[in-house]
Amino acid sequence: MARIAFIGLGNMGGPMAANLVKAGHEVMGFDLAAPVLQAAEETGVKPASHISQAVMEAETVVTMLPQGKHVLTAWPDILKSVPAGTLVIDCSTIDVESARKAHEMAKAAGCLSLDAPVSGGTGGATAGTLTFMAGGSDESFAKAKPILEKMGKKIVHCGEAGAGQAAKICNNMILGISMIGVCEAFVLGEKLGLSHQALFDVASTSSGQCWSINTYCPVPGPVPTSPANNEYKPGFAAALMLKDLRLSQEAALSSGASTPLGAEAAQLYALFEKQGNAGKDFSAIIEMFREQR
Ligand code: NAD
Repeated sequence: MARIAFIGLGNMGGPMAANLVKAGHEVMGFDLAAPVLQAAEETGVKPASHISQAVMEAETVVTMLPQGKHVLTAWPDILKSVPAGTLVIDCSTIDVESARKAHEMAKAAGCLSLDAPVSGGTGGATAGTLTFMAGGSDESFAKAKPILEKMGKKIVHCGEAGAGQAAKICNNMILGISMIGVCEAFVLGEKLGLSHQALFDVASTSSGQCWSINTYCPVPGPVPTSPANNEYKPGFAAALMLKDLRLSQEAALSSGASTPLGAEAAQLYALFEKQGNAGKDFSAIIEMFREQR
């Protein structure tokens, strides 16, 4: 049993911390939002009244916060309250530059650090089946792995500081682009009089196959578990897809990579969000293509 501090107990952090409690760890948590902290308490997390109190006794600290600016605000408070050698893991999805800054802060404080963003959404967080993409030293990864295994089913060490965030935004850029491609094909099929099932039967077993069609088909019917069958309730909200596509574009700009389709996907999701669809599943973007001519 380890003493773990968990900072940020929202939609993802709440169930992740609950899984650490279920695994027998002693978890002390903190969140700026009182109702969120209260909900975590009901799952066995001990509530702290501020970050320093939560982390003071911890051997490992996990953060699960909205954006890079939140991580860069919380980490100095954490690092000044823990002894050297403590492991700090950030599971938020943030920009690579902020992730590297956080690693530098930890190094200066003599602490171990890991960026370990996740995929799998709130369903995966609750079921303990997340995929973790980790960046940091071998020593940090080895120490973090048994803890991450209580919250996920696949843990990949992607490389040094920031490599986890890099893998996450590259993966989600592929996902955003491929979903748009699949949506366009279904709308074209509709115009050509092709049934959804016929296109699915062909494309899901041919060279067009990909996760966006085989597992998450954006029209109701062919894949019963996809959000299309549930009025496009997320799932993975369009706002989060837009966030990740924007992170990919920031990274492309700063690294000099050419990502024209990633840029187009970011613009299309920005338009979709502007039309009031931020809270819908990201596959609902098919509705925008039906309306556009
Ligand atoms: P959320 O908004 O539900 O939770 C974030 C929590 O952090 C909030 O409760 C907020 O009060 C708290 N917080 C903010 N600043 C804080 C601080 N300084 N100290 C303590 N608490 C603070 O967000 P979420 O959906 O849980 O997402 C968290 C991260 O996980 C994001 O980076 C998101 O992109 C990523 N992510 C989310 C999903 C998803 O499906 N929701 C999937 C994969 C990755």
